Amino acid sequence: MQGVNGRQEPTRDMASEAYLRQLRQTFEQLPNDIPLLLFADKGRDDVFAQATRQVIRAFRELSPRITLKEYDLGHELARRHNVVSSPTLLIAPDRYDIRWMGAPMGEEARTFLETLILVGMGQSNLSEQSRNVIRRIDSPRRIKVFVSPTCPYCPQQAVNALKAVIELPEQLSLEIIDIQCEPELANQYAAQSVPQAFANDILIGHGAQPEEVFALSLQKLEPQTIFIPESDAEQVETDLLIVGGGPAGLTAGIYAVRSGLRTAIVERQALGGQVATTPVVENYPGFTSVGGKTLVDILVSHALQYVQIFPGEGVLEVQYGSPIMVQTSRRKFLTKTVLLATGANHRHLNVPGEKRLAGRGVSYCSTCDGPLFKGKQVVMAGGGNSAVTEALHLFHMGVKVTLIHRRDSLRAQEFLSRQLAENRIPVLWSTEIREIKGEDRVREITLFNNASQKTSTLATDGVFIAIGYEPAVELAQKMGLELTADGYIKQDGRHRTSRPGIYSAGDVEGGYKQIVTASGQGAEAAMTIFEDLINPYWLTAKPGTSSVERPVALQP
Ligand code: NAP
Repeated sequence: MQGVNGRQEPTRDMASEAYLRQLRQTFEQLPNDIPLLLFADKGRDDVFAQATRQVIRAFRELSPRITLKEYDLGHELARRHNVVSSPTLLIAPDRYDIRWMGAPMGEEARTFLETLILVGMGQSNLSEQSRNVIRRIDSPRRIKVFVSPTCPYCPQQAVNALKAVIELPEQLSLEIIDIQCEPELANQYAAQSVPQAFANDILIGHGAQPEEVFALSLQKLEPQTIFIPESDAEQVETDLLIVGGGPAGLTAGIYAVRSGLRTAIVERQALGGQVATTPVVENYPGFTSVGGKTLVDILVSHALQYVQIFPGEGVLEVQYGSPIMVQTSRRKFLTKTVLLATGANHRHLNVPGEKRLAGRGVSYCSTCDGPLFKGKQVVMAGGGNSAVTEALHLFHMGVKVTLIHRRDSLRAQEFLSRQLAENRIPVLWSTEIREIKGEDRVREITLFNNASQKTSTLATDGVFIAIGYEPAVELAQKMGLELTADGYIKQDGRHRTSRPGIYSAGDVEGGYKQIVTASGQGAEAAMTIFEDLINPYWLTAKPGTSSVERPVALQP
């Protein structure tokens, strides 16, 4: 082919030759042999087995390190390795439990090449963060990754799994399953779209995940969406320590770091707070309708661009001083200021049976537990936005839900109440749940109609409770902060609490309790803190404050 300048351009063959030469060099440097065992049903004309032989033949030309032995499915070795379908390829079975069910063709040839190289190297090539997570796995995980030769995303997920197995062969095994070759198995796992990864038959990833997210999903045995790097630091120094990783805390983190404050967020439970378990959010500007967990993932990813987050860390102790010392369950923070964005906790009905049957039919999270009640009869207690949103969610999920409200009109927004009526979701008005009954799980509830004063019973499989929240003020109380008459943290309108250097934001302050208002309060609080650190109000406004309590001013 002639190039524009008239010179001969490299042909495709020349490019392929160079590529093959490079591959040969790579394989030459591999320290380990790569024995392959192919099991095929020799009695039948198996196109997948033929394709597998062809692919392996091509790779074997690159390196003598790759060896192939072939056996019939009826061979003793097939029984010993528990091989039952044709073709099944075992890769270095002396060192790993890695099997390929199908032919490594199309996009899967990329996975196969990577498999050979990693097995030949005997190293996982995982990032340090992923390796740390995988190394924490202390019980066996049987991984299955369903793939297809036409899926360009599949190699990434298959290679994630492969690297994990090479890192921890004593606990992990892997089956890479081509859904075209193994349609029945794919059906059994409802793996109609690929890639899908299972561990011990639990779905841990749908689609290609970043390596660290896959590692975490494998370790936790549930699909994860975000990976937050862990820190070993025993002591962290900050200008601002935010307690609480909901919308208020996350937004405050973004604003504070952008203002130049060294900031960290600690969260003892789930990031995102209540939003993480909200089925759908339809009033957060910019999103017509978004799943609560998805919105949290977006917020957390954004916050992580700026601020270090320490999940799973509860505050144990705060010592006022200069700096303030905050001891969490993992480490010590020395900080100039603290922002409490601790949110709110579920309110309980406080009726007999509620505590005993929690997790056995009593639930405070329709997003989490709703799918278990598909086709079953449940009640939803409450009359506010949460109860109606969650009742609608359950209804759309195929759960037979009845709303039970203690008054004769709802507190929820008109838009939501209308949807309840349009979907003909039954409502028991002026009704209170007095008892939840059942030995091992919820069977029945006792109801009291406060209009007719009559008591009755209702058979039900589940009791969902969404009757509002109580502000999470335990820490604030422990820190000696003043509360309002309603039990929220008292603040001065600029999020300053009764103690210098300690601020609040979000639902723990009371007010409208919307995601957007919590975020707004987080932003406001961060800006106040920034201004106060430059120009400390307590130096003039609080003459009585002892010097030990005074936070340190930032140098402007
Ligand atoms: P809420 O608005 O405080 O409503 C709580 C509901 O539970 C009320 O209907 C209340 O009855 C009832 N209730 C309270 N204690 C009860 C008890 N012991 N027994 C029986 N019923 C009881 O709480 P929420 O619905 O969880 O909402 C919390 C906040 O989040 C609100 O500010 C809400 O607007 C906001 N939110 C907004 C959305 C949205 O905008 N889409 C969605 C969810 C939540 P009474 O009516 O008789 O007081």
